[in-house]
Amino acid sequence: MNEYVIAKYIRLFQAGYPTPREHIELLRGKEIKPECLWENRAVLRMLTNEQYIGTYISGKQVSKAVGSSSKILTDKSEWIVMPDKHTPIISKEIFERVQYLLETRLKSKRSIKPVGTSWKENNKHPKRERLLNGDKVVAIPIYGYSKSESGKLEVDPNASDVVRKMFELAKQGLSSSEISSKFLKAGYPTPREYLNLSRGRDIEPTCKWSVKFIAEMLKNIQYTGAYVSGKILKDYDTGKSSHMAKEDWVIIPDMHPPIISKELYEEVQGIITNKRLGRRNMTPRDYLLRGKVKCGICGYSLSYDPVSIPVLRCYHTSGNPSSNCYKMKVVVHELDKAILDIIKVHSQILLSTTEIPSLKKAGNDAQQIIELEQRGQELIDKRRELYEQYISAEIERDVYLASKADCNAQLEKVNAQLVMHRVAEQSQQSKQKIAKLAKTALSDTASPKDIVDMLIDKILVFPNDNLEIVWKVKEFWITEQEKMK
Ligand SMILES: [Zn+2]
Repeated sequence: MNEYVIAKYIRLFQAGYPTPREHIELLRGKEIKPECLWENRAVLRMLTNEQYIGTYISGKQVSKAVGSSSKILTDKSEWIVMPDKHTPIISKEIFERVQYLLETRLKSKRSIKPVGTSWKENNKHPKRERLLNGDKVVAIPIYGYSKSESGKLEVDPNASDVVRKMFELAKQGLSSSEISSKFLKAGYPTPREYLNLSRGRDIEPTCKWSVKFIAEMLKNIQYTGAYVSGKILKDYDTGKSSHMAKEDWVIIPDMHPPIISKELYEEVQGIITNKRLGRRNMTPRDYLLRGKVKCGICGYSLSYDPVSIPVLRCYHTSGNPSSNCYKMKVVVHELDKAILDIIKVHSQILLSTTEIPSLKKAGNDAQQIIELEQRGQELIDKRRELYEQYISAEIERDVYLASKADCNAQLEKVNAQLVMHRVAEQSQQSKQKIAKLAKTALSDTASPKDIVDMLIDKILVFPNDNLEIVWKVKEFWITEQEKMK
């Protein structure tokens, strides 16, 4: 029982049942032709009438004065309600369910939310449960998928190749019409033709892909394995359908095998958005942190939403209100500023606390290493010479063994020193590298994009504007204690 069924009830009534008034007149033997025009209000009143579950209700209206014919309706709290006074027509369970559904339907109509809202917000709703169990959810699979016997989506090997190719071409910056002509040249049957061919129909494919269809496919998040519902809201009173804003869609990730990766999908969306906004030359690099911002809760990339004040949103749990990142968003320019500020502060701290070795000291180590390596090689050569002298009987066994032991001892010392100098050299190099990075980050010459690319691997966003930065250079991770210094 759901809203759709209630709507159907109303229609069924409308579809040919005499109204209650007509019913009474027919019962009384009057010859009337019933119009069967049920009022929505009347149906609603019946659906909320507890008398159908066997309850006796009285005192709904009272006379204004004794003898007066005008009556006033009383508040529900003043009614006389006595349960189980007559045979119920419907069970209490169904009645309760209908009340709940009516309430959510009325609520959803008031706030113009999709009809699916009630199951979207209700984790225990059967439709949602069915979805999460991976049960059958689609009638006709989208191009790229086929349906298994159990009704689950499976990747169609041939069609999915074409889908993948389409996203790859879009990633390279090709427009939908350019992709369409590529597909014509390559001889890929259109989705409709492919369907007909796979059903064994004998047709000659034109391979003329609709540009609009390609554009729509490129925006279809279902190719990442996500299930999408609630794109269209149908008003049962007017029968009109309207498209819902993307943030009101129900998107449940990882419901079926993906054809393309989430990263590729996000990248293509960025390119499409740029093209739409006329920023042709600003392919994926349009905003500072592109490709680096992930949701700290669910781990997916946040999607760029170019509204008047652009934001990054987590769409991936939009079907799950109990998730901590449900409808989480962060304002792009605020995030940019926060990240650049953090980089600046960390660079300043690193520059003031890192003891930058002098070039001379580093040079000394390098020289020492060269000399020690030479010395090591000399000792190895000498050891070989001793052996040759011993086997050609130029020296006695005792002399050979003593000299060899001496050689080995010296070699051990050389190696130990070598390790020490190499470690010193490395730490100096890394200190110099960090100092150089910090200086670059604080200089005016490097662009913010270069600085971010140089230092930051990714940024995790958590609710309430909490951030976690994963640095490319681990030294840039500074504990709060160090910041206090
Ligand atoms: Zn998330």
